[in-house]
Amino acid sequence: MNGEAPILLNYQSSTPRLSLSEAKIIYNTPFNDLLFRAQSTHRQHFDPNAVQMSRLLSIKTGGCAEDCGYCSQSSHYPTGLKASKLLEVSAVIEEAQNAKDAGATRYCMGAAWRSPKDRDMDALVAMVEGVKALGMESCMTLGMLSEIQASKLAQAGLDYYNHNIDSSERFYPEIITTRSFEDRLDTIETVRAAGIKVCAGGILGMGETVEDRISMLLTLANLPVPPESVPINQLIAIPGSKLANAAPVDPIDFVRTIALARILMPTSHLRLSAGRTEMSDEMQALCFFAGANSIFVGDTLLTADNPGDDHDVSLFHRLGLSPMPLGQA
Ligand code: SF4
Repeated sequence: MNGEAPILLNYQSSTPRLSLSEAKIIYNTPFNDLLFRAQSTHRQHFDPNAVQMSRLLSIKTGGCAEDCGYCSQSSHYPTGLKASKLLEVSAVIEEAQNAKDAGATRYCMGAAWRSPKDRDMDALVAMVEGVKALGMESCMTLGMLSEIQASKLAQAGLDYYNHNIDSSERFYPEIITTRSFEDRLDTIETVRAAGIKVCAGGILGMGETVEDRISMLLTLANLPVPPESVPINQLIAIPGSKLANAAPVDPIDFVRTIALARILMPTSHLRLSAGRTEMSDEMQALCFFAGANSIFVGDTLLTADNPGDDHDVSLFHRLGLSPMPLGQA
């Protein structure tokens, strides 16, 4: 130990659990102490060698009205992405079957919308029902939801809804202006109230400070119920987007952020999400040791590249990792 008594967390409490200064102390402990604590926390709640595998499909690509500065699909930036309409339900289910055959247990469907139109709800409900009929978990990310829309998706059996907060409340307006941080939290609350599990995380490498990253994690951890799934993305700098020239994240800082997320949200699935193509195998191994236990599999993530299945199979073999069975995911 480094001589400091570890700050104890009360995971059962529904009240805010940690202040920014307390979380910063944990983040800044010597790297080995931080990773040991994160891995010890991880082992209390999860099989340390099992990783949940999700697959993500873009069901409606590009032309989005929002101005998220990191996104290839925003109509505010000349990223060169061609917009397309909502996919047919049958095409989505066929892709879900392929994902299941390749070992994925959760199927995530993303649409580039500010929010779904009511006329799209029947198709979205049919997609959820189709994925559930395959015996997979379902997840959607469609932008902001009304209570009625959330309720329809919940009744269809939607397991998870993804809605990232992206960054700290302080830094958020530097990246997105078309909807507020508060809007994001309201959508998360709407989803939670409908009985759908929450997937919410953020992006590192947008020009935010370390304190912003810690603050973002605290916002998630201190929700009345922390998200069941927390994706941590490394920015993929998209040519033409607002963040095309953002400086890369220091890999050690990235691993520290994963470790802090594991300590603050001990029972959440932590997903090493976008940006894995830019990470070495050694960096990913450190992230798994720090408590990451979920990944996206497949060659693409919405519009971005992802390590292919062959690479992940090889990495899992080298690390002795195995896919997490559905019942534990
Ligand atoms: S991140 Fe989502 S909401 Fe933001 S511009 Fe991209 S598709 Fe639209």
